[in-house]
Amino acid sequence: MPKYIFVTGGVISGIGKGVITGSIGRILQSSGIKVSVLKMDPYLNVDAGTMNPIVHGEVFVCDDGAETDMDLGTYERFLDINLSRHNNITTGQVYMNVLQRERKGKYLGRCVQIIPHITDEIKSLIRHAARKDDAQVLIVESGGTVGDIEALPFLEALRQMGVEEGHDNVIFVHVTLAPIIEEVGELKTKPTQHSVQELRRIGIQPDIIIVRAKRKLKEGNREKISLFTNVPKECVLSSPDAKSPYLIPQILEEQGISKILFDRLKLLHGDTNLSTWNEIIKDIVESKREVHIAMIGKYAELADSYVSVNHALCHAGGALKSKVIINWIESEELEGAKSRVEDLKNYDGIIVPGGFGSRGIEGKIIAANYARINNVPYLGLCFGLQLAVVSFARNVLGYSNANSTEIDPETPYPVIDLLPEQKCVDELGGTMRLGGHNIIIKEKTKAYDLYGSTKIRERHRHRYEINPMFWDSLQKGGLVFSGFSDDMKRVEIIELEEHPFYMASQFHPEFVSRPGRPDPLFKGFIQACITKRDKAI
Ligand code: GLN
Repeated sequence: MPKYIFVTGGVISGIGKGVITGSIGRILQSSGIKVSVLKMDPYLNVDAGTMNPIVHGEVFVCDDGAETDMDLGTYERFLDINLSRHNNITTGQVYMNVLQRERKGKYLGRCVQIIPHITDEIKSLIRHAARKDDAQVLIVESGGTVGDIEALPFLEALRQMGVEEGHDNVIFVHVTLAPIIEEVGELKTKPTQHSVQELRRIGIQPDIIIVRAKRKLKEGNREKISLFTNVPKECVLSSPDAKSPYLIPQILEEQGISKILFDRLKLLHGDTNLSTWNEIIKDIVESKREVHIAMIGKYAELADSYVSVNHALCHAGGALKSKVIINWIESEELEGAKSRVEDLKNYDGIIVPGGFGSRGIEGKIIAANYARINNVPYLGLCFGLQLAVVSFARNVLGYSNANSTEIDPETPYPVIDLLPEQKCVDELGGTMRLGGHNIIIKEKTKAYDLYGSTKIRERHRHRYEINPMFWDSLQKGGLVFSGFSDDMKRVEIIELEEHPFYMASQFHPEFVSRPGRPDPLFKGFIQACITKRDKAI
């Protein structure tokens, strides 16, 4: 029978509940326990795929093609497991299931209500995930903050499960924020007290409180929180700001979290041993040799929009004992008469990440061309491949106004075009080419040198591809196609032979990169950046 850890949040959102959830998972996993994770998101979207990453953070793609909340990426990176569609539930999904059942007459004669029908559906999806993943422990993170109207059915479902599964099988962890008033330097516990009161009002008494704050809680802070919340002092834990989220498992374990969980959940377990994890993380956090990367995008694109790319770069840096410094370059500033393209000479490598739509694309095309002619390592991710091909067509083949039909449907040289199966797609939710697909790698290419295999699997999220009508001319012009879909119908990787590192993928290698196991494309790219930097010194 699976045990459940329910993680709720208080005070404000965006305080790193996902990292704490992933960290708890990693700690338990290191004791030999089979852990899985589920994220519940209170919004009405059926999945995260239709949401704006600039506002909501990156859309993470699972191997099965699910477009999910970015926390699933955090869990995959902490636990080194592959999650799927059933690991992320939203209000939209829950209501859709219930309403479809209602239309089929499955509730005939009854009035369909939030309690019990919506809450029953939530409980059933949670239990289904635990079964499907064969988890000894399922950690369930409830998105949003206690007190949000839209999160209420989820919290109610968790409360009910606490009763139904029994005391030894469920534990509630509440994550809050303790602000520090700068002028007085005092850490305030009142918001934590209030958010626990709110939680108790709906019938949930937390067993563990984890307090995020700039610094560590003092004894007095913990005593006060304990007194006001009915949580024993040793279960009030501190999660101070850390240099890297990957340090959180160790920080929580030093405060004895695994013992609290084991005792309470009566779990049979081995010794908790984070040494392998800490060893990997040490290289990510402590490496000093710097490499400076230019990421070409829009300033508006928060760090969170490309969170997996940022992590993948750190993983590759760690594996090569280097610290990757990411510099955002506004792509529109590379365009026109006042172009800052020459500034790109200050960087060891250039990345054009994934994206949609036309604003700023000319700057990205210019950056791809700059990298090609100046022998600067270039990594293009999905859109970054497509724009590198456009740049190649324009500048090497002389196809003026070559473009992707996503940007210019009337272009005389549509070198990037809609995937054939996309031509009759009219709904936008979940209809891109998504998720893991097998890829064939051509021998005697850089891609083969990096992956060391002719068969790999990577994750996708796109509607456009290199137009097969232009394969011949692009290849004759010197562009190497080194990876293909397994039916050989689409190009997955491009590279240039006479260049230190010019590679781009139609897939998103960032989604499978893990600490200690960077994706080969990122590792190859960072290695090339290091080589360039060493030569320059
Ligand atoms: N907009 C491009 C497409 O749909 C690229 C997508 C992406 O970068 N994820 O194919």
